[in-house]
Amino acid sequence: MNIFERIRDSVTMTQVAELYGIDTRRSMINCIFHDDKTPSMKLYDDHYYCFGCGAYGDAASFAAQITGLSQYEAAKQLCSAFGIVHNSSEPFIKPIIQRETQREQETKVYRILSDYYRMLKRFREGYAPQNIETKPSPQFTESLAKLDEYENYCNIFISGTQEERRDFIENRKEAVEYARKRLSEYHRNDRRGQTVGTRPRMAGRQEHKRGAVL
Ligand SMILES: [Zn+2]
Repeated sequence: MNIFERIRDSVTMTQVAELYGIDTRRSMINCIFHDDKTPSMKLYDDHYYCFGCGAYGDAASFAAQITGLSQYEAAKQLCSAFGIVHNSSEPFIKPIIQRETQREQETKVYRILSDYYRMLKRFREGYAPQNIETKPSPQFTESLAKLDEYENYCNIFISGTQEERRDFIENRKEAVEYARKRLSEYHRNDRRGQTVGTRPRMAGRQEHKRGAVL
């Protein structure tokens, strides 16, 4: 077992973040890789993932980013901080990849976009004004402003090409961030706001569906 595996086996990402003075009481922390105004980084036991910029890695890469050390030096620092015994003569093996594959990114981005799209659709149907004199609710107004836009985004992931999807992920981060923010605000305000229905399958290696999401 190399030093990186030994660390992943011995301590959780939460313990590592706390070692560097990061408050982990909320479910997400501010990303340490991008200028993060709302916490977008989730800590799992053996890795972290940022829903804003896609940063992904293990304890050593997290520590390296904070300390400015190389991953191997940061790993040694973690070992001494947590009393993890490692054999320095073990062959040096590269830590797990930093960035997730495009496929993993696409799945996560599409999940956020389609959840938000379905939320807007519920707003359009469930919050429509009863008659012409009623002032439209903020939910209905939001659905008017955003529904078509997010339907188009979802369709890129359902029937677009790989280049279109990559282009979207690289250049439309703010649209994903906006959807993520609205979903978390909505779920915070309304615990009944569970997503309903089944998400249509993203265009995969075998299947190529066309058409609007439902
Ligand atoms: Zn980030």
